[in-house]
Amino acid sequence: EVNIQTQLPKHYQYKKIKHIVLIASGKGGVGKSTTAANLALALSDQGAEVGVLDADIYGPSIPSLFDAIDEQPTTQDNKTLNPIVKEGIKIQSIGFLVPADNATVWRGPMASQALNQLLNETQWGELDYLIVDMPPGTGDIQLTMTQKVPASGALIVTTPQDLALLDAQKGIAMFNQVNLPILGLIENMSHYICTHCGEKNHIFGHLGGEQLAVRHGVPLLAQIPLNIQIREASEQGQNLLTQHVDIAEHYFSCAQTISS
Ligand code: ADP
Repeated sequence: EVNIQTQLPKHYQYKKIKHIVLIASGKGGVGKSTTAANLALALSDQGAEVGVLDADIYGPSIPSLFDAIDEQPTTQDNKTLNPIVKEGIKIQSIGFLVPADNATVWRGPMASQALNQLLNETQWGELDYLIVDMPPGTGDIQLTMTQKVPASGALIVTTPQDLALLDAQKGIAMFNQVNLPILGLIENMSHYICTHCGEKNHIFGHLGGEQLAVRHGVPLLAQIPLNIQIREASEQGQNLLTQHVDIAEHYFSCAQTISS
């Protein structure tokens, strides 16, 4: 049971964080966390100070993506937590603080309270970007969380599959409802390039991301392929970007657009 008491004024920490960017998806399993982690690495590689807050209470995967599942955040004052630092990125996760099977049954107020604590009571220090890996979906919990976080904007991750696109559309509607700018759409598992013949296959459908972006007037920032190296690096907690230059390009160009 984690119970962090704090007297810190709610907005104290935000002053040192230039941009909070929410990474959201309408549907689970579309690669939201993988994208969040790789985007954080890309921004960091470009020289930015980056933090990642894993707010995906139902399936916190940031610790494993950064090979940090056994880490425990420390505290100096019994009020605030030091983030875990991996690859030069400060990470904090609900997964560090509660057992995996505990948080999943939380109701909305508890979930958004937990997010509040992680956000406000982590010693982020100076950050150019705090990337927040949101829980998938567009229910009450997500809406409350979105309202509580003073974010600069949101990125929506979707696959080209109809169902994911439909859910991404709900995500767009949710952010519009709270007047949070949508920085762009990222189409993940966009296509597959055959390793034998080089042919490009649109396994989950074609043009969905483009059409959704046009319809809602938001930029399509990246079309990231379905790729075995992305999955392997994410499952092994390795830095994809230093190992696979051609794949890394997608995240770098996305990071470039966000920071410009
Ligand atoms: P979400 O956060 O949306 O639930 P994850 O980021 O956990 O999704 O990704 C779900 C699974 O898909 C993981 O096993 C991950 O490694 C894999 N994955 C994500 N993006 C890709 C991709 N572009 N190519 C191959 N596998 C991917």
